[in-house]
Amino acid sequence: MTKNIGFGIEAPKNECKDKKCPFHGELKVRGRSFEGTVISAKFTASPTIEWKRMNFVQKYERYEKARTRVKAHNPKCIDAAVGDKVLIMECRPISKTKNFVIVKKC
Ligand SMILES: [Zn+2]
Repeated sequence: MTKNIGFGIEAPKNECKDKKCPFHGELKVRGRSFEGTVISAKFTASPTIEWKRMNFVQKYERYEKARTRVKAHNPKCIDAAVGDKVLIMECRPISKTKNFVIVKKC
């Protein structure tokens, strides 16, 4: 059974039996969302997502480039691979370093 997770995000076509899937499991998403790129999938269930941002440095009145890296849960029905652009959403802590789940390939 596929759940509607809200936020106008459509459910993937595949089904999965992952308990930590926001569409087919019990995981709820809330909080912040980011668009990023999958840069490492050594652990296929928890790939690393990176996105770039600009940080204003007041002393120099200029922007510096900064990047953010987080680990996100990769449900089987989405199955993002290295290089994919994905939309991630915040969820409850899944493990010590995982607080996000992939909800869409962009
Ligand atoms: Zn699923």
